[in-house]
Amino acid sequence: RAKAAGRGVVEVFDDELRHELSVQAQTEEALRQALLGNELVLHYQPVLDLLTGRTASVEALVRWNRPGHGLVPPDAFIPAAERSDLICDLGRWALAAALTQLTQWDAAATAGAAGAGGPEGELAGLGVAVNISGRHLASRYLLDDVAAALATSGIDPVRLTLEITETVLVDVPSALDQLRALRELGVKIAIDDFGTGYTSIGQLPNLPVDILKIDRSFVSSPGAGHADLVRLVISAAHSFDLGVVAEGIEENDQLHRLVADSCDSGQGFLFARPTAPAELTIPRTCPATEDSST
Ligand code: C2E
Ligand code: MG
Ligand code: MG
Ligand code: MG
Repeated sequence: RAKAAGRGVVEVFDDELRHELSVQAQTEEALRQALLGNELVLHYQPVLDLLTGRTASVEALVRWNRPGHGLVPPDAFIPAAERSDLICDLGRWALAAALTQLTQWDAAATAGAAGAGGPEGELAGLGVAVNISGRHLASRYLLDDVAAALATSGIDPVRLTLEITETVLVDVPSALDQLRALRELGVKIAIDDFGTGYTSIGQLPNLPVDILKIDRSFVSSPGAGHADLVRLVISAAHSFDLGVVAEGIEENDQLHRLVADSCDSGQGFLFARPTAPAELTIPRTCPATEDSST
């Protein structure tokens, strides 16, 4: 009887697994079509210099404009894309789209130069950060994809930052070699979601990276020694000549703490949400710079 029951469980499990796999396959196939059918769009979120309040760059964040589903956030489809080389196609598309966007903002500013001071002027010359999956980093494609996007757009490589999630440094054995090769193209490397992986501060001087992005969880929750950790990361980063970006700044007191701790840059709903390029406006001042003279 136990055996029969056991088989029943296995069968239910099989059914669920089969269902799960077919949903996965359908999502993947739909996503493949979406890439071809221009259903993917990039939204952009400003990253502010916390000292001057100026926006020097934006982060490109993908969304899926899926018919019948509305605007689908990346967490709902990036994991499906990462199960195959589809994520490399997506990354290649994102690199090209983001750099093309920069050329369009540059061109709009030149065209509207007569009436300078318009929003176009603030978008010219911006840098852009593109998120790159560990699978794409590990692939033989990424280096060529980055070089091709730079060559096609003519964008100066210093304006492109590649964001790699911290855990990838452990998961992808060739990560450091790949990052070194990418940096030779002249692009910058940021470690995303820093603090969620296993990098020790002692490793920082040996990492071929330019920027640490402190994970939102450390910025938003004040408890459990997070404030001390953030301060420690910022001062360690600075002693190794790395820039620090705080992500997920939602409240003024979070911003004030980061400014007091000499964090270089920040991004979050307090300043601006990620938006479609047509609606993108650059925040004029960083709230903290108005009263940080003390
Ligand atoms: P991420 O790279 O860490 O991006 C930051 C996420 O935090 C974004 O979520 C952004 O909308 C959100 N965010 C920014 N400021 C705030 C804030 O003040 N409060 C809160 N609660 N959230 C804030 P999003 O756009 O949903 O992206 C989620 C993740 O999906 C990204 O995390 C990134 O890992 C991945 N992703 C997005 N676009 C791409 C892409 O083109 N390629 C790849 N491989 N991954 C991408
Ligand atoms: Mg990112
Ligand atoms: Mg992040
Ligand atoms: Mg994050």
